[in-house]
Amino acid sequence: MRKICFAIFIMGSMISVQAQKAYPGVERPKLVVGIMVDQMRWDFLYRYANRYGNDGFKRMLREGFTCENTYIPYAQTVTACGHATVYTGSLPSIHGIMGNDWYDRQKGRLVYCTEDKQVTLVGSSRAEPMSPRNMAVTTMCDELRIATNYKAKVIGIAIKDRGGILPAGHTANGAYWYEGSTGNWISSSYYVKELPGWVNAFNQRRLPDSLYRLNWNTLYPLNTYVMSDGDDNSWEGSMSGEQIPVFPHTTSKFAGTNYAVLPSTPHGNTLTLQFAKEALVSEGLGVDDVTDFLAVSLSSPDYIGHQYGPNSIEVEDTYLRLDRELGEFFRFLDSKLGKNYTVFLTADHGVAHAPAYARANRFPGGVMLLNTSAALKNTIGKFGVPNLVENYSNYQIYLNRRTIDSAKLNFREVKSYFIEQLNREEGIHYAFDNERITEAHLPTEVKERFIKGLHPKYGGDIQVILKSGYYPYFSTGATHGTWYPYDSHIPFVLMGWGIRQGRLLRDVNMTDIAPTISSLLRIQMPSGNVGNTVSEALK
Ligand code: ZN
Ligand code: ZN
Ligand code: ZN
Repeated sequence: MRKICFAIFIMGSMISVQAQKAYPGVERPKLVVGIMVDQMRWDFLYRYANRYGNDGFKRMLREGFTCENTYIPYAQTVTACGHATVYTGSLPSIHGIMGNDWYDRQKGRLVYCTEDKQVTLVGSSRAEPMSPRNMAVTTMCDELRIATNYKAKVIGIAIKDRGGILPAGHTANGAYWYEGSTGNWISSSYYVKELPGWVNAFNQRRLPDSLYRLNWNTLYPLNTYVMSDGDDNSWEGSMSGEQIPVFPHTTSKFAGTNYAVLPSTPHGNTLTLQFAKEALVSEGLGVDDVTDFLAVSLSSPDYIGHQYGPNSIEVEDTYLRLDRELGEFFRFLDSKLGKNYTVFLTADHGVAHAPAYARANRFPGGVMLLNTSAALKNTIGKFGVPNLVENYSNYQIYLNRRTIDSAKLNFREVKSYFIEQLNREEGIHYAFDNERITEAHLPTEVKERFIKGLHPKYGGDIQVILKSGYYPYFSTGATHGTWYPYDSHIPFVLMGWGIRQGRLLRDVNMTDIAPTISSLLRIQMPSGNVGNTVSEALK
């Protein structure tokens, strides 16, 4: 017996010696840079490519690895869900970020994704406290912090609060976002007691004013923008203070007076990347041997896309400029880190065309308003309950249970009659009972997106799916938020340390991004992860 034990002991120690040889130590890049381009549809990588330079998107495609068919696997394709999902590898049904906001029956109001009454804003006098606390799982940034015993530094940056807060996660060193009322970068007491010196110094430079004074004119002569419609279209929205949606957009008048317009111009990207560079230098990201994480989200393409729509010269010009700025940003990273960084670029969602644009070009699109629908009128008429709908958000209807109860009506009966009426509406593809979601008459791949998006506590009673190209309100410009591919097909490109060169055509999910980066970093995947590593991308 002793001999056997001894033999096992010898064998065991040989194995551990061998394992140590085969596993020389944890190799990681010095820095990971995540770039989310808010509202960037996958096809924008190629649509304007004839005028992209060699150093931006094309460098990523040439040197890096592109997952050409990356999809959002849940239905509600909005900013908060996208940022949370990319960084957690999880789903709205699990990570709890069910929308930018969602209806909370107990509170009787919409809850904003990053609202948190336990904290205060830092660098601002307003009372809109923010933190990542509503997100129920860890992000890959959290896991990097935990894996390095909190020696890794994590900073999240975006014009939108949720674009900076959600990716950086619960244990981040800081998250910073842009305040439209002052033009300053601000944060939350969740991270810091006061703004670091470098943030104050950056704010004192008043960059928004100098950017405003540049105005917004096209990078190239206006008549060379052949990938877009003319400049002045009825379906384009206008910039604040402008009568028609045409270049040049005079932003100089906002300097010193109105900082809320800056995000809706390409200057927002310039400002964000400038702030990101400052963060990298001042926080010493990528300097020591412990991997750091810089999570940047570029919010301006979303504001611009919403305003002018994806077929506008404004959007084309935004991407041509962004391509240049990314090239410049990569050169900056090269100069600071050599080959010791990994960067990935993706988006939180895509975008649809405005219904009026779709109609004018003879492809499907329209508007379906719930409040004035025959379905709502008929149901109210039949049961005699005026305040039937308590809330309609994220394409979900929350029935007013109190009204239905006090009228002594059968809740199920009201609900199924309403659903029946909704399914007669011209603009509705399908409405179904969330309680019976598994029985919904939808192809499995579509049904799954609704299951994955439905949080058991915050879900509504009825799910409404509008037809492709339909909007729930009248709109110029454009919006997003559905399962359809124009909203759910996003870019996912990686480049740098540990990344192979290549192009992958098989389907990949947004939830595969976090486990892929976790594998690259040899860290535990986030706590709600459901995705898979894209092993083809890794060396
Ligand atoms: Zn977004
Ligand atoms: Zn225009
Ligand atoms: Zn948006």
